[in-house]
Amino acid sequence: MALETDVFVVGGGPAGLAVAIAARNRGFSVTVADIAQPPIDKACAEGIMPDGLAALRKLGVNIPLDAASPFRGIRFSDGESAVQARFAQGPGLGTRRTKLHEILIDKAAAAGIDMHWGARVTGLAPDGVTMNGINVRCRWLVGADGQNSRVRCWSGLDSARTPPSTRFGFRRHYRVVPWSEFVEVYWTKHGQLYVTPVGPEEVCVAFLSRNPKLRLEDAFAAFPQIYARLQSADLVTREQGTVSTTRALRSVYRGSTVLVGEASGSVDAITGDGLSMAFQQAHALAEAFLNDDLAQYQYAHRRIERLPRMMANLMLLLDRNHWLRARSLRAVEASPTLFARMLAVHTGELPLFRIGVEATLSFGWRLIRA
Ligand SMILES: Cc1cc2nc3c(=O)[nH]c(=O)nc-3n(C[C@H](O)[C@H](O)[C@H](O)COP(=O)(O)OP(=O)(O)OC[C@H]3O[C@@H](n4cnc5c(N)ncnc54)[C@H](O)[C@@H]3O)c2cc1C
Repeated sequence: MALETDVFVVGGGPAGLAVAIAARNRGFSVTVADIAQPPIDKACAEGIMPDGLAALRKLGVNIPLDAASPFRGIRFSDGESAVQARFAQGPGLGTRRTKLHEILIDKAAAAGIDMHWGARVTGLAPDGVTMNGINVRCRWLVGADGQNSRVRCWSGLDSARTPPSTRFGFRRHYRVVPWSEFVEVYWTKHGQLYVTPVGPEEVCVAFLSRNPKLRLEDAFAAFPQIYARLQSADLVTREQGTVSTTRALRSVYRGSTVLVGEASGSVDAITGDGLSMAFQQAHALAEAFLNDDLAQYQYAHRRIERLPRMMANLMLLLDRNHWLRARSLRAVEASPTLFARMLAVHTGELPLFRIGVEATLSFGWRLIRA
């Protein structure tokens, strides 16, 4: 084991491995440590948005289609109205978290990254960290240790811009040929049911809600047509749950310690943007290492999270306000072009100001009349 490295990454999830690969691609020596054994699974809706896919490709990571399923866009439905739109910049990709993890590990190994699994990082040490009781010196310490980041806490970066809030997510996999080329989002009074194609014969079904007691069965009750499709399909995984936190940090670095992925703040999972943000942050951070300027990363981090935060706020408003959601869905159903433009803004293809005055006014008018 190297006792000295340029970059030490705590957490070998998607964010940690992406940073490791990006930094190694720029010539730095990199060590990654994760407390878990691969392949690491996590309750997630498992869709990678087109901008996230582009960031992955830039890392040199390609996901083969035998282990994934492209999706062409997003479909919203609340049982009364439905609207769908395609991504302007090509498809996104659904793939199992375990598969994504294997692919990232293979890429990291090929790049010569020193990886330690089942390795617990227990604290900061002079010029580095303590891993399994051994001090490792590093030039930069990266906290990619997820939602409950210890590195964030140890380095005093826990201070948030607004109080964090949480929702709860549960997911299962079913063996069934995906029936739609869209990620389907079904809005219920209690949350959102997501269906993501993740393979030629597999879908991931996830439910996000404010109520920790609700499970997928509760969402199926509102959408019997989905239940009918899944009833006869084999259940591939048992229900797994986790927390989806909204957290915005004041700062994502201090000295030579820096945060990435969910450790660095997160938006509600409703956007499906978490992985995309992490992969984009990975590039920005490696670039900042090159320039020896973590302030540059902090600036890029704010830019990357701006749009997902705005979209999350908008969607959570619709989650809370059933009247507004029903009207909004009716309004965009009547104007699918506007929904396509909103999706293009969401995926960063269209600047917000280009959504158009005419389209906004038309939406406002339909909202009033819906
Ligand atoms: C219900 C739900 C659905 C979602 N759906 C989507 C979606 O469809 N698309 C999307 O893009 N995003 C989605 N997300 C968000 C996405 O899951 C996260 O953005 C992503 O997992 C963040 O990756 P990460 O590497 O930052 O954190 P994690 O995946 O949590 O990885 C952190 C790693 O750090 C390790 N670790 C922790 N502490 C230590 C320690 N002390 N020492 C060593 N290792 C440590 C852990 O073992 C873990 O492997 C969803 C989230 C939820 C909750």
